[in-house]
Amino acid sequence: MQAIDTLTPCPCGNDAGYARCCGPLHEGAIAPSAEILMRSRYSAYVMKREDYLLATWHPSTRPASLKLAAQQPSPTWLGLDVKRHEENGEHAIVEFIARLRYGGGKAQRMHEISSFVREQGCWYYLDGRFPEG
Ligand SMILES: [Zn+2]
Repeated sequence: MQAIDTLTPCPCGNDAGYARCCGPLHEGAIAPSAEILMRSRYSAYVMKREDYLLATWHPSTRPASLKLAAQQPSPTWLGLDVKRHEENGEHAIVEFIARLRYGGGKAQRMHEISSFVREQGCWYYLDGRFPEG
């Protein structure tokens, strides 16, 4: 039987494919860097894996729910471009541009500088800023 989870490329854009990129993280593997965690969170948005998004969100800033399934119009994610990744001890920032479209609307860019914190060896998303441009 063919594995049905073989998404190539991975939703985050990695040519290695989902089973070798974000898939293992979604199944509980530990992200070795904040950038890889960020990419796996982007893939989780694409795949509506709200459980994963909440599990990788720091408890101090985590919302109770994202209601991704109820989002209307629901976004279509078009691509991810990581611009910058800086790690400094237990803190990191990842700057990225995600492209998405709501319903039949125009493609738009979401430019975010996300901050991450590492606790007990696990990276967590803390919050994001939206720079101009
Ligand atoms: Zn990936």
